[in-house]
Amino acid sequence: MATRKFQMMDVNLTTGESGITDISDLFDEFLGGTGVATKLLSEMPPGMDSYSAEAPVIFAIGPFDTIFPVATKTVALFKSPLTGNLGESHAGGRLAMAMYGAGIHVLRIRGRAPTLSYLVIDEETAVVKRANSLKGMSALATERMLRDREDSEFKRSIIRIGPAGERLSPIGEVTVDAARHFGRLGLGGVLGSKNLKAIMISGGKYWKIDNKGQFNIFYKKLYDSVVNSPLMKKYHELGTSVNVIPLSKINGMPTRNFSQGSFEGAREISGERFAEKHLNQQIACAHCQVGCIHVASLRERFSAEDQHYKTFKVSYDHELIYAWGSNLSIGSTEEILRLLLIVEKQGWDAISMGTTLAWTVDAYAHGFIGDKETVGLIPAFGDAKTFEKMLGRIISGHNEFYRSLEKGSVFCARIYGGKEYSIAFGGNEAAGYSTGLWGFLGYATGVRHSHLDAAGYSIDQGNISNPQSDEILTRNLYNESVWRMILNSLVICLFARNVYTKEIILEGLDVLGISGWTEDRLIKTSRHIHALKYKFKEDCGFKFEDQELPGRLLRTVTSSGMLSSERFRTEIDRYKSFIADDRRSLGI
Ligand code: SF4
Repeated sequence: MATRKFQMMDVNLTTGESGITDISDLFDEFLGGTGVATKLLSEMPPGMDSYSAEAPVIFAIGPFDTIFPVATKTVALFKSPLTGNLGESHAGGRLAMAMYGAGIHVLRIRGRAPTLSYLVIDEETAVVKRANSLKGMSALATERMLRDREDSEFKRSIIRIGPAGERLSPIGEVTVDAARHFGRLGLGGVLGSKNLKAIMISGGKYWKIDNKGQFNIFYKKLYDSVVNSPLMKKYHELGTSVNVIPLSKINGMPTRNFSQGSFEGAREISGERFAEKHLNQQIACAHCQVGCIHVASLRERFSAEDQHYKTFKVSYDHELIYAWGSNLSIGSTEEILRLLLIVEKQGWDAISMGTTLAWTVDAYAHGFIGDKETVGLIPAFGDAKTFEKMLGRIISGHNEFYRSLEKGSVFCARIYGGKEYSIAFGGNEAAGYSTGLWGFLGYATGVRHSHLDAAGYSIDQGNISNPQSDEILTRNLYNESVWRMILNSLVICLFARNVYTKEIILEGLDVLGISGWTEDRLIKTSRHIHALKYKFKEDCGFKFEDQELPGRLLRTVTSSGMLSSERFRTEIDRYKSFIADDRRSLGI
């Protein structure tokens, strides 16, 4: 097997210059993906503003991407404008395939284009082009325009921001191809600050597989465990929205801004109901055999007076149903889809925007905001029409209050009060699980404050049937968080985390001729990457001491019962001590 070469493309948007560097040594040390990107982000001065022209955005893929099943993701690292520290987001679609085809394993972007622009990368050539005609365009329309405007002989990936990113919203997202997103932590705002509306990538430089016999045997083994075993069945059938009814039954489905864990309308907004009423197609990221992306049809009038209709495609999953369904007490699939379409067109992080609107309901009810701020609108749970009008006012920048709403609930609570109703951890609005202490602890301690950092919600659910000590559970949370550094360096879809065992990973590296990896080295590398991330976070001002349970959650019954701030604090301190031990032993 030929020695694998890994390359980074650097693009300076200020000058329009680009260059290619061989970074095989970084891939040898950090495996790829999040490991390599973390090392590169660590070069950024921690005091630099997220929106500074020189702040880097780093997109990285891993050695398995596009070659093995469900190794489909690209990781983006940046300094988050939402939390002020590590920004990390993962997306599927065709981006990893297109980067791989272009022969680029890392794309690092710095600088600021003089005017709104888009970047076209065709193999090793990068051209910055003016995008003034795309100004204010939705993420959906931008893709259509670029697909018509730019040609390529290879399959392309187009990633772009919507108007929210152009307005530098710190909850602005980046849409990737048909229905994937770099959703969390404000990458859309960062690209907006660089005047970068979109990136289109393509190329045909695929690696040659020269040990086909060994490759085919390994590939078939992986393929069978993805397609024929039960490990990924639920993602293919109803997708993650299969969770809605079971979570509601165990009090784990956040409802009415996390004041309850059970939604009386769960059946009406379940994955089963969405499939019956709206499912139009299921699509997959490039080189995924599962196809978990469920896309609904939404038929809408062109305008209130018009008798003509247009059909939109809107993707849905558990997180979106939580953020725009149960947590806002909206029990109609049509109303959820209509709100999601607005969010998609604007390019906001759907979780953060939905959770921020949930905050407005409590903030209004408890007197932190009033008519002076909302100007005639009364946010109320279940009132989708008012939420739609509020979104319209955020888009038009109606007043200071509405402009604040697209900065997230933490910012709003700082300005207007009602901190206990801002359900956020580490500055990032919470995902859709109210299962208990380790779910919330996972949000608070995770490197990106996401449910995907360590799946604490699974630990909570396991603990209900098989109780363990707090120390063991926090240690399990920590170990999972550290191990995911390897999965995210490869960069596989985390839905396939049980397919990619240590043994499979080592065999896959061997099949690709990437030598020198052992189980022990994988573990050491995962700890190294994890420690580097925490160093960056702390250098940017993150403190474990600042992490607390939002007041609302101290009065909510979760799947695991009531929570106490003392127990939360004890486990935060314990988690911190695990990291301190690792950093001390690694000298980081
Ligand atoms: S399981 Fe879903 S998110 Fe994961 S790679 Fe497949 S289609 Fe993409």
